[in-house]
Amino acid sequence: MKLYNTLTKTVDPFLPRDPKTVKMYTCGPTVYHFAHIGNLRTYLMEDVLERYLRFEGYTVERVMNITDVGHLAGDTDTGEDKMVAGARREHKSVYEIASYYENAFFEDCRRLNIRKPEKVVPATSCIEDFISVIKTLLDKGVAYPAGGNIYFDTSKVADYYTLTGHSAEALKVGVREDVGEDANKRNKSDFVLWFTKSKFEDQELKWNSPWGVGYPGWHIECSTISMRELGDYLDLHCGGVDNIFPHHTNEIAQSEAYLGHPWCGHWFHVHHLNDETGKMSKSKGEFLTLSLLEKKGYDPLAYRYFCLESHYRKPLTFSFEGLDNAASAYRRLISRTAALPREGEARLLVEKYREEMRRTVGNDLNTAMGITLLYNILKEKAGGRARREALALVDEVLGLSLLEKADALSAAEGTAGKLCGAAGCAKECAENGRPAAPDTRENGADGDPEAEEIEALIARRAAAKKEKNYAEADAIRAALAERGVTLTDTPAGTVWSRR
Ligand code: AMP
Ligand code: ZN
Repeated sequence: MKLYNTLTKTVDPFLPRDPKTVKMYTCGPTVYHFAHIGNLRTYLMEDVLERYLRFEGYTVERVMNITDVGHLAGDTDTGEDKMVAGARREHKSVYEIASYYENAFFEDCRRLNIRKPEKVVPATSCIEDFISVIKTLLDKGVAYPAGGNIYFDTSKVADYYTLTGHSAEALKVGVREDVGEDANKRNKSDFVLWFTKSKFEDQELKWNSPWGVGYPGWHIECSTISMRELGDYLDLHCGGVDNIFPHHTNEIAQSEAYLGHPWCGHWFHVHHLNDETGKMSKSKGEFLTLSLLEKKGYDPLAYRYFCLESHYRKPLTFSFEGLDNAASAYRRLISRTAALPREGEARLLVEKYREEMRRTVGNDLNTAMGITLLYNILKEKAGGRARREALALVDEVLGLSLLEKADALSAAEGTAGKLCGAAGCAKECAENGRPAAPDTRENGADGDPEAEEIEALIARRAAAKKEKNYAEADAIRAALAERGVTLTDTPAGTVWSRR
């Protein structure tokens, strides 16, 4: 595939060292709060990338860290330790906070069809490894102790700003202005590898080290975990654009100083999701989570669809209007898929769309074109089975659970029986070779048989949710939405309104 590389600043062929296996590292979440939907955009696009690489036939060895210690706002000791602040906010221990929000993060991922990497490594499980890498950096003369902390000496690195493409001068006045001065540093861009002198006297998580009791800096975490789990060469490193500097810049500096050779060939960065007031961030207090979208009645995969519609290398502005449009487009896609007949020749289209995938999604992860392929498949003249197979092929990469949702929709319509007849779907059903359900609505006791039927479907949906059959629950919501019935889940139960 071709993929933009932040290191070369061009769209390059992606070539892993081993032609069969991709070693992929992802900067994981800092687990002091829920992920916001911006964070999730980044993980979602990384997931599509991984799926695409698998589609191309690669084995993907993927590792993600969990930042459950430290992560200061700056790389001096002047910022706020986010984990400690989170624990204080909720009157819990740092470990409790970390485990709660890690689970919440992976639950969000599950709902968004984001695969969990095979290897997920919490930073707190690697303290000995950090210490060992820092010792080597000291032995090599690229790190130094000062004021109780251990610093990385960026002046020892030939091309420190290689990832950002900025000159050292530009960064000094630009990005780094907010970082408080640390008198211990030899160079402005130096960063802490190990803290012993912390302004956080009540820091819970501290470990013995050759340099005193303390804790690791943030950047050493990813370098060490990546090298430990994936070896001395990495093919692909991912994160959001805010990670480029200083986090990934520092990762490159220390990993290459440690290894003595170039480390990672391809850097993939996802641009930010902004809200109408600017960048979305957890520290802003109120922020948009996936659960909030669900509470408002959105299917998480409608948010996935929303993200896939735009390119990962462009900032994306979130609005509910935009999400509404994506949600109805997604629902229509599901019902059109559900309406496909099941017979006909298979295989015919798959090869064609395998090529189409390479031309589109394989060209710097053009997911919007991937969605267009789904519509093109639906419009094909081929039989229903062939179209379903081609849809499955494309959706293996896009991850919209299209066939599963469509089948659940068909099943829900079947279960509901009356649904088709009542919604004026009979015509469509007849066209697609499905028997239209007998219309028995006039038998309703309260004079509004359609309302009774809607209530019955809502009850069925509640039961499906209880059984964790989310596909069916979503399908019922989608079927009702097609009829102009909107559901709102409230603490007192589901309420509905009709257009
Ligand atoms: P954090 O949990 O803060 O370490 O962030 C987790 C991931 O989300 C990192 O890869 C960040 O680069 C990314 N990220 C942070 N803010 C946004 C945003 N507004 N939009 C997209 N990705 C983001
Ligand atoms: Zn990282």
